[in-house]
Amino acid sequence: MIDVDAELDLTPGARDQVFLDSAGSSLPPRTVVDAVVGHLRREAEVGGYRAAAERAEELAELPLALARLLGCGPEEIALTDSATRSWTQLVSAIRWRPGDRVLICGNEYAGNAIPLLQRARYDGVVVEVVPDDGHGDPDPDAFAAMLDDRVRLVSLVHVATNSGHVTRFEPIAAAARAAGALVLLDACQSAGQLALDVDRLGVDALTGTGRKWLRGPRGTGFLQVRPDVVAALEPAAADLRGGTWISGAGGTGATSYELRNDAARFELWEHDVAGRLGLKAAVDHLLALGPAEVEAAVRASATLLRDGLAGLAGVTVHDVGEDLAGIVTFTVDGQDPVETKELLSAADVTVSVSDASSTRIDMTARGLASVVRASPHYFVSESHLDRAVAAVAELAESS
Ligand SMILES: *Cc1c(COP(=O)(O)O)cnc(C)c1O
Repeated sequence: MIDVDAELDLTPGARDQVFLDSAGSSLPPRTVVDAVVGHLRREAEVGGYRAAAERAEELAELPLALARLLGCGPEEIALTDSATRSWTQLVSAIRWRPGDRVLICGNEYAGNAIPLLQRARYDGVVVEVVPDDGHGDPDPDAFAAMLDDRVRLVSLVHVATNSGHVTRFEPIAAAARAAGALVLLDACQSAGQLALDVDRLGVDALTGTGRKWLRGPRGTGFLQVRPDVVAALEPAAADLRGGTWISGAGGTGATSYELRNDAARFELWEHDVAGRLGLKAAVDHLLALGPAEVEAAVRASATLLRDGLAGLAGVTVHDVGEDLAGIVTFTVDGQDPVETKELLSAADVTVSVSDASSTRIDMTARGLASVVRASPHYFVSESHLDRAVAAVAELAESS
């Protein structure tokens, strides 16, 4: 069991408000803030290079900590500045041929869809949507019928940005890999919320961000890539972190380069060192609590909140599917979600709004323009969840 009171002591921002936006940008524990701010101060004293050198050991431990979190080796981890950067670094490394097919699912995220549609526009790649099975998951039979040897990439989203649903993607990931397609999982909303294990997930690569459920700083992210697919993937814009400029065959002109042979080939040289120290503190915090404990606590909080909201007259809960986790989506009948968010904010309840433009396929299919998104982390107490339900009830009555 997580000691919520002890966690609140470490999370000053969560005492006076009901914080329900860990799917957007969570509240960091004090250790994360101290790591970031302390390093910025040190940089001001001795310069960024010396300050980084002083923390070299801890920085080298970040890939180890992330690898522990994901159940993989540290050579499978690349550090980036966002989930989207991780995703585009990986996808840019596929050498596309005209007519190559990419299969995406109904819960695809705009930040992934747009770079794929660029490949469609400029490289003749064909982007197709796997039909839904009627329960919010990609249909395995329909997927099997779509698979052929022109499918280069299958893009999966573990937990969508606009739903509590945990996607059952494992059957199609296995089929796709057996058919020789690369399988990429967007774990941006699951990392830090759900206990993850790359062997059980069974994908070739996954992406995550620091600021959401991991409670890390903004501007941090990571990519995990299986060692057996790294060699075939060369990021379109590698730099002197992912590669080395070497002399050509004649030995004079500097005419060639070599890429690293681990996942760090996807990294870029310049990065926010303070942010990485903060991310290290965030991952350490999660590992100390235990990812399985965190998952259980998040699921319990979200269930309390979802059930509370579902019981209110004039409120519609929009989460669909059997396996619902930490994201709760709803609308107050007759009220624009942005207005609901603002009124809740005035009542010291922090939520966000998920718009159709982020998950267009799914929102269009369900006839939704936007929903209120409430995402309680383990540090939100039961009394705070009750306060949130009461605040929504009041809005629904006066709406
Ligand atoms: C937030 C989000 C992303 C993007 O994460 P960034 O760190 O902002 O790049 C990707 N996928 C999903 C499902 C998300 O919710």
